[in-house]
Amino acid sequence: MSNEVRVRFAPSPTGYLHLGSLRTALFNYLFARHHGGKFILRIEDTDQSRKVEGAVENLVNILNEMGLNYDEGPGAGGKFGPYFQSERLEIYKKYCDELLAGGHAYYAFETAEELDEMRKVQQMQGRQTMYDRRARNLSENEVKEKLTSGNPYVIRLKVPLDEEIRFTDIIRGNVKIETNLIDDQVLLKSDGYPTYHLANVIDDHLMGITHIIRGEEWLTSVPKHILLYRAFGWEVPQMAHVPLILNPDKTKLSKRQGDVSTEDFLKKGYLKEALLNFMALLGWNPGDGEEREIFTKDELIKLFSIERVNSAGAVFNIEKLNWMNGEYIKNYDIDELTGLILPYLNAGGIDTSDIAKTKRVVYAVRNYISRLDEAAEHAKIYYSKLSLNEEQKDIITSETSKKVFALLYSKIGQLTEITAENFKPLLNEVQKETGVKGKNLFMPVRLALTGEEHGPELGLIAYVFGKQEVLKKLEEVL
Ligand code: GLU
Repeated sequence: MSNEVRVRFAPSPTGYLHLGSLRTALFNYLFARHHGGKFILRIEDTDQSRKVEGAVENLVNILNEMGLNYDEGPGAGGKFGPYFQSERLEIYKKYCDELLAGGHAYYAFETAEELDEMRKVQQMQGRQTMYDRRARNLSENEVKEKLTSGNPYVIRLKVPLDEEIRFTDIIRGNVKIETNLIDDQVLLKSDGYPTYHLANVIDDHLMGITHIIRGEEWLTSVPKHILLYRAFGWEVPQMAHVPLILNPDKTKLSKRQGDVSTEDFLKKGYLKEALLNFMALLGWNPGDGEEREIFTKDELIKLFSIERVNSAGAVFNIEKLNWMNGEYIKNYDIDELTGLILPYLNAGGIDTSDIAKTKRVVYAVRNYISRLDEAAEHAKIYYSKLSLNEEQKDIITSETSKKVFALLYSKIGQLTEITAENFKPLLNEVQKETGVKGKNLFMPVRLALTGEEHGPELGLIAYVFGKQEVLKKLEEVL
């Protein structure tokens, strides 16, 4: 086989893409693209009790939406399929038989109650709870008898005793564990389905996976997997276990603390580019000594190296994500951004039928928001009718205000149009020519245009309304 890099993202579909999984998928993707290798999607759906309707479609959609295109997997084809574990049951069975024949696995017949009892006794004695390997002592005849009389059974891994398993993880470094502490893992369940461990090892081998990049929670399973690779006589892929994502209080980022699904973050108006950029920096940095934080996907591909992933947990800092998202929003192509913000404005009850105005509104509000769903709130002033209180009315009807309005009106009349830049100089001229300045100048103009005492920069406001609408508003207060 060539030494092309082949990595996989192997989720058990739950119906949504957890941010931790998004990052695992992203690291695999970046690693594959960096090395010109292949990124594979494998669906680990052997747990029948956890099946969720539509989960795979969701997953495929969200990966595509995030731009994490895979080279092989559901819908993409590939010559190592099927890519659904539920369609590979025959394969697992065959390899499990091989393990039995080679003496690396054995039948066990304990009932759930018996296992429970075993656990309780171990707990009472303060020992590690694990299968006590008792079925290893069954004679060949006893096994045969139980099988022919139809006793339910599982097949367990026969862990060799009194050894030490050592391996090197790219991120975690050297790890070692005594085999006496390793459970005789169930490989095939009584329903004939494989467990994660068996299916995972067989598939990673048959699919030619060269590097396993996955969450740290699987690190403790590696010794069992190594024993399986050894029993089959297969080469162990390289491994990289990426650290957990943590809340600021250092607890594991989980559903209980709020949203953790990628879909929810997109819905709230995080841009996918920002989310990817942010996730890439959770536990990784390019280490080139530069302070920058904003990276395009192509730059990430170029810079990414799995060796630079930190072994310490990565804190999910929502303020940083908000800041980064704001930066992306500020610098996004205005037409595309308008398209993305439109649904949020509509949902906020804003009439977006004048698309030219909508685009100017987006231009103005984008400097003030860190999420797209904040846009409608900031856009309201560009659509509301004036409603002033008595005090405000006094301000706009004062002598000086009238003077300001009249001069401003004639100056705007001479413009072809109001741009994002030419309104402020006009106000400066008005200041010079009338002698009215500061709050006395800006407040009445602001009130006349928006009915609000505070808000964005006046030049922006005038630009959003455009010449005709500004003149109309001034006519009302002249
Ligand atoms: N199906 C496992 C999960 O959902 C995959 C772990 C692995 O990548 O080996 O996390």
